[in-house]
Amino acid sequence: MKYILIILIAFVCIPLMSAEVDSVDVCVFHNKNISSVVFTPVNSCYLVSANGDKEYKLEENTLLYISCFNHQILVSTLNNVVGVFDTIRINSVDSTGYFRLKPIKPSLESRSYDDNIVVTNNFGSLKFINRVDVNKYLAGVVLAEAGPNIIQEFYKTQALISRTYLLGHIDRHSSEGFNVCDDVHCQAYHGRNNINHRIFESVVSTDHLIIVDSVNDIITAAFHSNSGGLTSNSEVEWSSPLPYLRSVVDPYSINQRNYKWTKKVPINEWRNFLMENEFSGKSIRRKKLMLSVKNRSKFLIIGEDSIRTREIRKYFNLRSSFFSIDVEGRYVVFNGLGYGHGVGLSQIGAMKMAHLGFNYEQIIKFYYSNVQLVSYDKYLEEKRNRETAIIIE
Ligand SMILES: [Zn+2]
Repeated sequence: MKYILIILIAFVCIPLMSAEVDSVDVCVFHNKNISSVVFTPVNSCYLVSANGDKEYKLEENTLLYISCFNHQILVSTLNNVVGVFDTIRINSVDSTGYFRLKPIKPSLESRSYDDNIVVTNNFGSLKFINRVDVNKYLAGVVLAEAGPNIIQEFYKTQALISRTYLLGHIDRHSSEGFNVCDDVHCQAYHGRNNINHRIFESVVSTDHLIIVDSVNDIITAAFHSNSGGLTSNSEVEWSSPLPYLRSVVDPYSINQRNYKWTKKVPINEWRNFLMENEFSGKSIRRKKLMLSVKNRSKFLIIGEDSIRTREIRKYFNLRSSFFSIDVEGRYVVFNGLGYGHGVGLSQIGAMKMAHLGFNYEQIIKFYYSNVQLVSYDKYLEEKRNRETAIIIE
């Protein structure tokens, strides 16, 4: 006799049940240990709300000084002290507002951000959380990750990768009170995109699309600068093999920017490195080294000893772990291909594909195996269907 039991799991158990993720909390100037800053509304007026009650109106181009003061924040204008508070929220009166933040201690280059900000004192440093419209945030990320003057189809490709990352990691910093940070730990974000309007158009035209794998999980959309003509299986660089991060032959990266590199290392330095990694004396003295540049190898094997190629890359600060090794006189010479870890999408190759007329979907499906582009709503719906019913026969 068969029993079919359908167990409904409360929707609250599934993170991100809301179909819309309109805004995101980004910790900006993350880990920069800033204790004093000047805030300036550049466009639109702002309202400063301290400790959740008082409101102070700030006109365009008015300077507001914000500093750590014991465990709180001292807020003042050019002439007056506004007060000492735990938290201040500075919100634009409309959706066009953006502002400039100029760190004074330490003195850093100013950056401008869209929308709103919350400032608190985090153990003697100011903590800035930029609450920003998702598409404006993504435009800032695409600018930081891709650069200012790139072909539009590549911007669309990068926008999809950045949105996929964001929605797959929306809880990465939730224990610290924000969604994502602004450095490479999450995604580089150096403020608003005020350089190229085509970037924002690219983000909007791919709005809500994300990349999922064959079982509807959001992918880790890894990318790098140049694959050297062959992308890497994920397990070569990291620990786990992922079905969509498979090695592909990539003719589009060949002879493009960052395709080849060479580095010479004094042979004593090389031998010390092998010694530190417990290679035998026989392996260390060996003159012929066996590593071919034709394939991406996970290990360098000398006699009975071996070491991961990514460890060699890290130690000698090489551009990639896709290299051959030769000995020339008193030097070990690395002849390498590509730039970056080589897993997933090659940015330079993707740009070449865009110039050849491929669209963003073709580019993404070339570098990521067996993936689909779906709307975020559809992803959530399928996830809900899968997780709300467990059938036991
Ligand atoms: Zn982070």
